[in-house]
Amino acid sequence: MEELRKALFADPKNGYTSLTQQQRAEMEEYCKRYAAFMDACKTEREATTWTVATAQANGFQELKPGMAVKPGDKVYMNNRDKSILLAVIGSESLAKGANICAAHVDSPRMDLKPNPLYEDSEIAYFKTHYYGGIKKYQWATIPLALHGVVYRKDGTVVTVTIGEDDNDPILCVSDLLIHLSADQMQKTAAKVIEGEQLNVILGTEPLNGDGADMVKLHIMKLLNEKYGLIEADFLSAELTIVPAGRCREVGLDRSLLGAYGHDDRVCAFAEIDPLLTMSTPKHTAVCILADKEEIGSVGISGMQSQAFEYFMDILCDAQGVKLSHCFANSFCLSADVSNAFDPNFPEVSDRRNNSKLNYGIAICKYTGSRGKGGASDASAEAMGHVRTTLDNAGVLWQIATLGKVDQGGGGTVAAYMANRNIVTVDAGVPVLSMHAPMELVSKLDCYMTMLACKAIYLA
Ligand code: MN
Ligand code: MN
Repeated sequence: MEELRKALFADPKNGYTSLTQQQRAEMEEYCKRYAAFMDACKTEREATTWTVATAQANGFQELKPGMAVKPGDKVYMNNRDKSILLAVIGSESLAKGANICAAHVDSPRMDLKPNPLYEDSEIAYFKTHYYGGIKKYQWATIPLALHGVVYRKDGTVVTVTIGEDDNDPILCVSDLLIHLSADQMQKTAAKVIEGEQLNVILGTEPLNGDGADMVKLHIMKLLNEKYGLIEADFLSAELTIVPAGRCREVGLDRSLLGAYGHDDRVCAFAEIDPLLTMSTPKHTAVCILADKEEIGSVGISGMQSQAFEYFMDILCDAQGVKLSHCFANSFCLSADVSNAFDPNFPEVSDRRNNSKLNYGIAICKYTGSRGKGGASDASAEAMGHVRTTLDNAGVLWQIATLGKVDQGGGGTVAAYMANRNIVTVDAGVPVLSMHAPMELVSKLDCYMTMLACKAIYLA
């Protein structure tokens, strides 16, 4: 019976039972590189800037219309500093299709409103509008930082970062003291802190002199001295509030990484890292770092944008290939995070179909909600291609679904890639506390996801 059981049953095991010493060393090295990337990149702009610089340092050239490309060439296109597309040209024609990995580099946060600065009761604040799906109460009473860019009156653009250097001040949203929270504690979690209460404290010291709003004036003066800003500049700015602090090892055994924005920079880095040093693949390897996934992949830098067609069309043009033929023969791994099973909240998951920490990259046949609504729903053949590719490369994988049926749901860029006539499968790193100011992932799953992206590029 034992033999029959072994022959017929699936038998997923914790990845640490098979991890070799060499793999463990590689995993630790990889996770160090990943943590450094996370410390440098808290917004899609920062991730794009980092990737442009790193790609250039590794021999990638900016793709221009009409440019000649040959096998082994490494090219990139910076989509308006907010998303980036990269490719390593394969030995086969693009008529045979490309192997694509697509992740997103935007994460939930609090964006400044266009008229953000005000003073109330001699405290200066920024008003914000949250971006993406957040539990608002999680963003009060934690250290926060200001990141972004401002297009000034004179047409110059200045980069702003406050709250990350040890000598910087941090920012904060206040919550009500428990002593006076009798009414607040009766509210539902969605209402404990409401959107218009996500006001970020900037300062309390008034300038000396007569007149109203002397604290606000003080803050504006400080911003003017450091960045040359005037209040009207906020209209032409993209300033955002994110959790302050670095990516840290978590757990006494250091097996986890805690950081803001693993969703989805953990998959973004897994795509970039193997591409940087890749020698000529059979099929052209394409890496997409998209923006705006957290709000529906819309806009010029989202995955629904024609910017992707523009990039691929230039590559196809250089080989005299029709873009539609290339898409029809391409494969895309939609690399995005899944929810790791959380024993603190077992009731939301189907244990038999939920991804777990340390079981490898989580492959997700469909996302969506309520009867797979909005899902790309990969075919048996597409799933089989991923399964075989990962097995042949010795990459540890597991099954993922996003929670119990009718419990909720979510989406990725998968549907937008599949809509283009590209065979697409979702897969990514399992995460605890997804969309919280600090999310948790396992080092082993991060490493396996990087190996999976590499295997897909080389398939
Ligand atoms: Mn995501
Ligand atoms: Mn997300």
